Formats: sequence, structure tokens, C-alpha cells
Amino acid sequence: MQVIKTIEEMQKFSKAKKAEGKTIGFVPTMGFLHAGHLSLVKKAKQECDMIVVSIFVNPTQFAPNEDFESYPRDFEKDSERCRKEGVDVIFYPSAEEIYKGKTKFVEVGEIGQVLCGKSRPAHFRGVATVVTKLFKAVIPDSAYFGLKDFQQFVIIKKMTKNMNFDINIIGCPIIREKDGLAMSSRNAYLSKQERNEAVVLNKSLALAEEMFSKGEKDAETVRQAVSDKISETSGKIDYVEIFDSASLKPVNKIKKRNRIGLAVFFGKTRLIDNRGFE
Ligand code: AMP
Repeated sequence: MQVIKTIEEMQKFSKAKKAEGKTIGFVPTMGFLHAGHLSLVKKAKQECDMIVVSIFVNPTQFAPNEDFESYPRDFEKDSERCRKEGVDVIFYPSAEEIYKGKTKFVEVGEIGQVLCGKSRPAHFRGVATVVTKLFKAVIPDSAYFGLKDFQQFVIIKKMTKNMNFDINIIGCPIIREKDGLAMSSRNAYLSKQERNEAVVLNKSLALAEEMFSKGEKDAETVRQAVSDKISETSGKIDYVEIFDSASLKPVNKIKKRNRIGLAVFFGKTRLIDNRGFE
């Protein structure tokens, strides 16, 4: 397994492999890898010849009051995990390397201002910008994203199409802890009590699904029940919304394939989760 730190070297590697007729599967991450990240690697391995994982904590997607500095990092452990999974390259650039020269941003418009974008207005602009830069460095055939960050997945898919990137964007299911909490690098911040309480997120999404399957179609009624359940804990709701899974716009009457998404603070830790109605 190689660790590549410059864009030029990364492009050289990818171009050489492509010249040999090999396909490149790409898994962008911010590191502190867990089984959720590794599920993307496994999927990529099934479909592509060479696997590139990027580890880059992207400063432009964090607001000044957010956790960029304290975001958990452990490159040694991450490399070990990648090696065991059969990753071919870890792309591990510095912020200077990625943002050298004048930074032009990739703007995502309205779809970046709803759901998580309401409380993190510059977040998806930062995500779209870094993913564009990573795509230009790695030149993948397919790129793998978790549905845990559902809004991110939809935005990247749209951006890839709009920018004419010739890359398949593959969405992968949410991997959960045994008790149902969606895996996240940020779970490491939780105190024992917060960790126990955070189970309510998945439970409240399951409640929404149960209400829908028993015939409740009114989005506000379901939204309220989910909010009430979360409010039984110390969790502070950022949002609970039921929305169309393509436009991300809120719906009044729930239909199959709509989604419910939420963001909740436990202490200072903001956790997100979502689920599709089936
Ligand atoms: P991050 O390191 O948090 O930026 O995540 C990198 C990628 O892993 C993103 O595409 C995430 O959606 C995905 N991911 C993170 N957690 C999970 C999870 N629990 N299940 C599936 N994918 C995940």
C-alpha cells in the first residue's frame, strides 16, 4: 500500500493504472476510520481494480465555531485498517497542497441551504469544492459515499452530473453499532451517558417508519412524534424533517421513498441520521 501526498503524484499513479486498463474506485474520508468507512472500501473492491482512500480533514467545510481543530485524527490506525482491507493507495494531502493558489469555490445553490445547510450554511460549498479537487487528483471511475450523509450524497451526485465528471457515484447503506446508533467518527466525542441516549435517534426513525407503515401519512404528525421522543433525552434538536429524496424539499404527505432526516446535539456533539420510508 502506498501513501501519496501530492496531487501530481496521485494523478501520475491513476493515469498509469488507467493506461494498464485498470479501474479506480475512490473512497473520500476525513479519517478516524470505522466499519462505516470500511463498508465503502469493501463495495469499491467488489467493483474496481484499484482502491484509493483519501484522508483529509477539509477546513473549508467547517465553520469557525465548529470542530475542525479537535476532529479526531489517527493516521497510524487508519493506515493499518486500510492495509488490512487491501487498499492500494491512501491519498493523504496537506491543506496547503489541496488549497494552493487562489481558492475558487464550487457553489451548490439552494440544495445546500436546506436540512444540514440551515445551521451549516457554508458546509456543502466546502464539501463540493474539496470533492471536486479530490476527483481531479484521483481521477476515479467510481466514487463511494455513505447514505448516512444523505444530503451530501445527493449534492455530490448532482454536482458530478452538472460538472460533467465521468464518474459513477455510488451510495452505500448506513452501517450501525449493535444498538442501532449510526457509526460516526464524532461518536468518539460522546460521554457514556450521551452515548447511551444517542440510541434514541435510530429508535425515533424506526418509530416514524412504524407510524407510516400503520397508515399515518401526515408529515407534521410523524415529525412531532419523532421530536417528542428525542426530547425525552438530553438531545437538543437541530432539525427533524421529512423530505423528497431528490429535491430535499419538505413534504406534507408522506409517500414511499420520501426520507426523514435529523440532526441532534448531545452536549457539543452534533449527530445526524436518516431513513427512507418503505
Ligand atoms: P467522513 O469521514 O465522516 O467524511 O465520511 C466519509 C464517508 O464515509 C462519507 O461518504 C460518509 O457518508 C461515509 N460514512 C460515514 N459513516 C458511515 C456509516 N455509519 N455508514 C456508511 N457510511 C458512512
